[in-house]
Amino acid sequence: MKHFDFIIIGGGIAGLLSAYLLKEFNILLIDKKGILEGASRAAGAFLFPKISKKSSYTDFINKAIIESFSFYENLNINTHKKGVLLLPRDDKDLEKFKEYEKHIKLPFEKIGNGFFFKDGGFIEVDEVRRKIQVPFLKEEVKIIKKEGKFWRVNDKLSRNIILATGYEKLIDIPYINIRPIWGERIEISGEWEGNLEIFYHKNCSVAQIDNILRIGATHKRNCLECKENEQEAIELIQKAKEIVNIKKYKIENIKGGFRAASIDYFPIVGKIIDVKETLRLQPKIVKGELPKEIRYIEGMYIINGMGGRGFSNAFLCAKMLKNYILNNENLGKIDTKRLFIKWARKEGEKFLRELKENKC
Ligand SMILES: Cc1cc2nc3c(=O)[nH]c(=O)nc-3n(C[C@H](O)[C@H](O)[C@H](O)COP(=O)(O)OP(=O)(O)OC[C@H]3O[C@@H](n4cnc5c(N)ncnc54)[C@H](O)[C@@H]3O)c2cc1C
Repeated sequence: MKHFDFIIIGGGIAGLLSAYLLKEFNILLIDKKGILEGASRAAGAFLFPKISKKSSYTDFINKAIIESFSFYENLNINTHKKGVLLLPRDDKDLEKFKEYEKHIKLPFEKIGNGFFFKDGGFIEVDEVRRKIQVPFLKEEVKIIKKEGKFWRVNDKLSRNIILATGYEKLIDIPYINIRPIWGERIEISGEWEGNLEIFYHKNCSVAQIDNILRIGATHKRNCLECKENEQEAIELIQKAKEIVNIKKYKIENIKGGFRAASIDYFPIVGKIIDVKETLRLQPKIVKGELPKEIRYIEGMYIINGMGGRGFSNAFLCAKMLKNYILNNENLGKIDTKRLFIKWARKEGEKFLRELKENKC
């Protein structure tokens, strides 16, 4: 039986970049579909800053944008960094834009009602797949079991495992609730007018690549039955018409997938907490006491909750995960711990009661 240092389960952008950054170790990336075939296959993959009132979430997103541009550029991946013009969706949004202006930390220029950032671009998923290569196996993981110091993953053994399965749940972690958000993005050919030297983001993102217009994306919550469909593509074209004067079009391709979002939108990174042991040690956590000591499940990590910005979030998250694993560096707001504390205060009492009754 083969032994690894890390088996990364899930070959989306989160799992791929985690594997790539840990490639000095004996690693294996496993995915049942292939590399970048889950939600990552559908991504635009637009990279652009976020604007808002003062917010640690926006700060994180924008740090991730800057770092991911450098990361992709160092690998000679074309980031099409021509800049992005963020446009208000309506009058209400225009008022918000005025409020946000004083909180913007990245360099920008006001153009009309919008804000232009030179840190805006997009990448090709196929190019990322070609240029970032790691040891890979196409297989569905069905068994994860602790055997001595190792984790058994199907028929392989590894000291550590990293769960990067996107919206799909491989094991039940009571305090981690991933919400699937369906989305579709399309490419069209045809005739249109507008200055497409830069790319735009309003109700959707629009960029021109050669003679193709890339438009992304729709958002549908609670729609696990959603599938790629032309009606949604037409809705998207209507939104794009608010940006570009599209005169004629032919839909060249439609790609859909499920984004994986956390309840507070921050990514979810770190070690998996041993809920039973931690609550047994300090039952008052459920009453609001801050944990003094957290017990973890040794060698089991997660990187997930990339939301609608996986191609910019994944590099910073994978880098922080590596630094956490190797040097115990702080994960800050993306640490799994925050979700555990929130869950324990809400659901912990019930969990302990059921534990006493031997139900779990
Ligand atoms: C329509 C659309 C447009 C988007 N546009 C953008 C954009 O412009 N910019 C941007 O940054 N982001 C965009 N996103 C978001 C981005 O695609 C996601 O954030 C990102 O792909 C999530 O990556 P991931 O690795 O977490 O998940 P995924 O890419 O979903 O990867 C998870 C993988 O785990 C595998 N897996 C699950 N269970 C198992 C198992 N038991 N065994 C083996 N393998 C398993 C799956 O096969 C899958 O490949 C978009 C998403 C959609 C849907």
